[in-house]
Amino acid sequence: MKTVKLETDVLIIGGGAAGAYAGIRLGEESGRSVLVVDKGNIVRSGCMAAGVNALNAYINEGQTAEDYLNYVKREFKDVVREDLVYSMAKGLNKVTEKIESLGLPILKDESGNYIPRGKRSIKINGEYIKPILYNALRAKQNVRLLENTNVFDYILKQGKTIGAYAFSVKDDIFYVIEAGATICATGGASGIYRANNPGHSRHKMWYSPFNTGAGYAMGLRAGAEMTSLEMRFMALRCKDTIAPTGTIAQGVEVEHINSRGEVYVKGRCSTADRLKLTIEENKEGRGPCYLKTEGMDSETENQLYRAYLNMAPSQTLKWFEDGRGPSEANVEIEGTEPYITGGHSGAGYWVDGNRRTTLEGLYAAGDVAGGSPKKYVTGCFVEGELASRAATEYLDSKEGQRDSVDIEEAERVKSSLEKHLVHEDCPYSIEEVEESLQKVMDEYAGGISKNYSYSESRLKIALEKLERMESLIHGLKAKDNHELMFIQELKDRHIVAEALIHHMMARKESRWVPYQEHLDYRGESEYYGKHYVNSEYSDKIFRIKYRRIVGKDERYEHSDR
Ligand SMILES: Cc1cc2nc3c(=O)[nH]c(=O)nc-3n(C[C@H](O)[C@H](O)[C@H](O)COP(=O)(O)OP(=O)(O)OC[C@H]3O[C@@H](n4cnc5c(N)ncnc54)[C@H](O)[C@@H]3O)c2cc1C
Repeated sequence: MKTVKLETDVLIIGGGAAGAYAGIRLGEESGRSVLVVDKGNIVRSGCMAAGVNALNAYINEGQTAEDYLNYVKREFKDVVREDLVYSMAKGLNKVTEKIESLGLPILKDESGNYIPRGKRSIKINGEYIKPILYNALRAKQNVRLLENTNVFDYILKQGKTIGAYAFSVKDDIFYVIEAGATICATGGASGIYRANNPGHSRHKMWYSPFNTGAGYAMGLRAGAEMTSLEMRFMALRCKDTIAPTGTIAQGVEVEHINSRGEVYVKGRCSTADRLKLTIEENKEGRGPCYLKTEGMDSETENQLYRAYLNMAPSQTLKWFEDGRGPSEANVEIEGTEPYITGGHSGAGYWVDGNRRTTLEGLYAAGDVAGGSPKKYVTGCFVEGELASRAATEYLDSKEGQRDSVDIEEAERVKSSLEKHLVHEDCPYSIEEVEESLQKVMDEYAGGISKNYSYSESRLKIALEKLERMESLIHGLKAKDNHELMFIQELKDRHIVAEALIHHMMARKESRWVPYQEHLDYRGESEYYGKHYVNSEYSDKIFRIKYRRIVGKDERYEHSDR
């Protein structure tokens, strides 16, 4: 590969909700040079690739940022970073105004007020949210975009992050990016567990299949502290289409029934509880489970056809393909495989109030940042803004001086990457190793086949199997840089899976059933209710730290490091 060196004041890794918003704000508020690098095309990359149908985090009239914090604390049984959730909640409405000013259509009533969709959400026409962000980002004079480029490791100097290594997915180029400050915004991790669908359809999943945990993996390899990885997330979806179930369950308020026709959810119920109760029915042998839509009137049925055409067309197409709509057949539902994502749950980098990680010069925002669940799109924007401001202040404090990269070291990194690019046969394919990793996680670390629960003895087996898999991954061969990206994704998933298991072992209770259910320790424990499970990786060892809960008005600053 040809080596290309790039220099920038701020490097943003990932051009999704958090990264694009951070870039836009830096473009507006600082004269610093900014480089946004994304493995895909920013116009349609990440979780929002196909658009979103609501802004799920908004402080509606009658609600306050404190209410939002209390809601998140309730949902996650008090183990959240209150300072982070609160600072995020306080910024939600301002970023909403901003995205509207950039062109996002937000639905309004006759008096010009946003139309609520529940207590903390508003209705939008969000199909073009990503192109809107992309156009705003592209228009900034000091912002450069580098797409189809996979970032795979930070460049460190005496514990400080001074840039990152990347390679083009399309061309034969190895990038050495020297940066004054770096913002990681690579989203969460999918593909850690075996999915519901096999073969080519395995990437048909709820979370973005392109977010493969790169940010977590880079942080782990560099020694950054992580938090709450064991707080996994699974969605309850319509079987096979992975379409949302809330539109039927809450939108038209139907009951949930098991295979015997018995009702197990009636009336309003949180999504987490609907998932938990559905899993319980399956465990007791009363599955599969359904939303009881049979017999609904044609007006409601048409309403559902339209709603799903808007946000998950595969569901409407399935009804038409089957020749039976929801009024004639109940809708089967199931849980997805587990994901690691700090946007829905609290898994990710351990950051201070400014979203600074434990590595100097490195900030994290969005789904990759931990401690602050339920941020969704607007919460990711807020974090992008906070991180961009902190990165600017950091650069100001250094008077714009950048540490230079050791180019010989960079060439060594490139050579180790190129070992995968030799034209030799490998007895096993990238896909086969990926599938075995996902199978191990499914069977021994609480995947779908085990109804998401796990025990110490199973987790130990998972670790042993993952350890043996490492040499297989390092022996994989790629015929081009596109395949090299798949190998890198596998390396990233592998270390994230290991870190996850260590976190699962370390939380000796069952706090967030079904997201986290440890069969050796049923029920909640007082000690773990007051602590986060954190970890650091160095010399091939994961070290667990239990940190006490940080309150809403506390100023947390990594002062004990
Ligand atoms: C199916 C689905 C529906 C959702 N619906 C809603 C909704 O209706 N309303 C709402 O408010 N929220 C919704 N959310 C949540 C919201 O979309 C996410 O929380 C938010 O987009 C996360 O932003 P992010 O910047 O952290 O990650 P993303 O927006 O996913 O961006 C991550 C970016 O990093 C890039 N990247 C990853 N790895 C690398 C690498 N190694 N090198 C370079 N680039 C890399 C990716 O290509 C991507 O562009 C939904 C999420 C999902 C999955």
